[in-house]
Amino acid sequence: MPKKLNRIAAQKKPHGKPDTQCIAHCLSGLRCTRQIEMPFSAKHKTSPVPYCEKHLRWGDGAFKVHKHPKGYGKILVARYNLPKGYRMVYHGVRKTTGQDADLDPDEDRTLWFYPGNDSERVNGYIDPSPCPGSVLQFAANGGPGEVANIRQSNRGFGRRNGDYAGMEYVSTMPIPAGWQLVHNYGSEWWKDRPEIVRSNVGTERFPAPQRKARKVSCK
Ligand SMILES: [Zn+2]
Repeated sequence: MPKKLNRIAAQKKPHGKPDTQCIAHCLSGLRCTRQIEMPFSAKHKTSPVPYCEKHLRWGDGAFKVHKHPKGYGKILVARYNLPKGYRMVYHGVRKTTGQDADLDPDEDRTLWFYPGNDSERVNGYIDPSPCPGSVLQFAANGGPGEVANIRQSNRGFGRRNGDYAGMEYVSTMPIPAGWQLVHNYGSEWWKDRPEIVRSNVGTERFPAPQRKARKVSCK
């Protein structure tokens, strides 16, 4: 019997070059060996979303989408033990502000798009909702007693004014198999939605990392 992989490795980006190999893992836990679907644009000097056609469509096999047991919608769970620094991409159709006025703010899973490594110049937003393989859209937002275990890096994929784009996320701590991927939508998101009560999303079956109690020293 083949040895069961209990942990998969973080994908290294080729130094000084764009990714050419898909950064996803197959359901077997092995790194995908296919080439990425969208070509590198020499003219625009931008890297495309680093997934092959299959993983763009079906999502990274290192994760699985579940329904939250308490009816909070969908959640994203690690299929394997993931190391700190595991790379993943939040990808979707790039739109410009105002193009989609009928977007339901409570179902809003859009993300600002910053091409390249330019965290200053926003270039529209990414709408993952027509793309079920963009599984990062299902990662929950942690509750008040929880901390995020993934965060956005400054790396954007896709070219400025292009029609498809992605933003990279990385895990900030090891994520055990069966645990949820949790991020933090940010205080602005919550400020715009005062009617939503923040709840902890971790459950016995699908845990989420807990916030450590702050140590208070008495003097
Ligand atoms: Zn792939």
